[in-house]
Amino acid sequence: MRVIVTGGAGFLGSHLCEALLKSGTTVVCVDDLSTGRLSNVDQFQDNPLFTFINADVSTGIDIDGPVDAVAHLASPASPPDYHRLPLETLAVGSRGTEHALRLALKKDARFVLASTSEVYGDPAVHPQTEEYWGNVNSIGPRSVYDEAKRFAEAISMAYARSCGVNVGIVRIFNTFGPRMRPGDGRVVSSFITQALNGAPLTIYGDGTQTRSFCYVDDLVRGIVAMLQSDEPGPINLGNPAEHTVLELAEMILEITGSKSFIEFHRLPVDDPTRRQPDISRAGTRLGWTPQVPTSVGLRRTVSFFQSQPLEVRAAAETVAGAQFEGARSTSVIHSEALAKTA
Ligand code: UDP
Repeated sequence: MRVIVTGGAGFLGSHLCEALLKSGTTVVCVDDLSTGRLSNVDQFQDNPLFTFINADVSTGIDIDGPVDAVAHLASPASPPDYHRLPLETLAVGSRGTEHALRLALKKDARFVLASTSEVYGDPAVHPQTEEYWGNVNSIGPRSVYDEAKRFAEAISMAYARSCGVNVGIVRIFNTFGPRMRPGDGRVVSSFITQALNGAPLTIYGDGTQTRSFCYVDDLVRGIVAMLQSDEPGPINLGNPAEHTVLELAEMILEITGSKSFIEFHRLPVDDPTRRQPDISRAGTRLGWTPQVPTSVGLRRTVSFFQSQPLEVRAAAETVAGAQFEGARSTSVIHSEALAKTA
């Protein structure tokens, strides 16, 4: 089997490449390294089954030889990244997805789109089932990502319906694990980086907003199952264990043993108030459920960050304070005081 992984040098993409290589699959990783990193795939470079192509799928993609499947993951995915790269995010979700679909069409290959829980926006239905159509602000700052992914779903379905491409859509909820960039601005990586640096943990809003955090190995098993099936989806992939952002901060302080303060900053515009996947469909159609409890995954992720002290140190500035325009610190409380009130 030969699989093309766009965005293969990213956090999730590199884990997918690794899982595929381990099962004896030939992998062609296509990445423009705008948010991915060569260091994520360096360890595969000596593997004869692995090829890396430095290219932007938004400008085109041409691969020689047979292709059995295309996994289209390429896109900035962390909010600070897609705020920094709004046009690139729209381009890869639209033109990039079409190029990847055309490749699948030409090669008669399975096509799996990495969509996102962001297609549900700030959801009015909880937990989110795949039948829910979402609540997205089409002109807000997050729209460059949300609408690009919604368009990506639409064009994938159009290629399935009108050209017969074997399309499968997965909607990926918050995922974390080793190889996240310490400075990528997501909540898990930021809190771990801050805790290890003894810097304040920056909670946006009052920390009552929720997310459901899935460990990367679980998520990748779901994508591989989707690649191996003919299931069209969409299928939610995520861990339904829901936590407030404040609970996450407390878990990370406990795991790291850090004495960092917690700082409250203004909530970014259109930040979803809650998010939890209904994963019944993944269970019935793919036989998939997550296995790794959030706390276990967090320990593994903290260990990974501890093994990268220079990177963690270097990211201190990037994750200090809210990364959104107009955001500023509103109050600071000591984590010990917080523990006493809990
Ligand atoms: N968040 C936070 N502090 C941070 C980074 C993020 O409180 O330093 C919050 C963010 O406002 C959101 C949640 O954590 O409510 C998850 O944010 P993330 O950027 O990881 O992903 P999202 O689920 O919003 O795409």
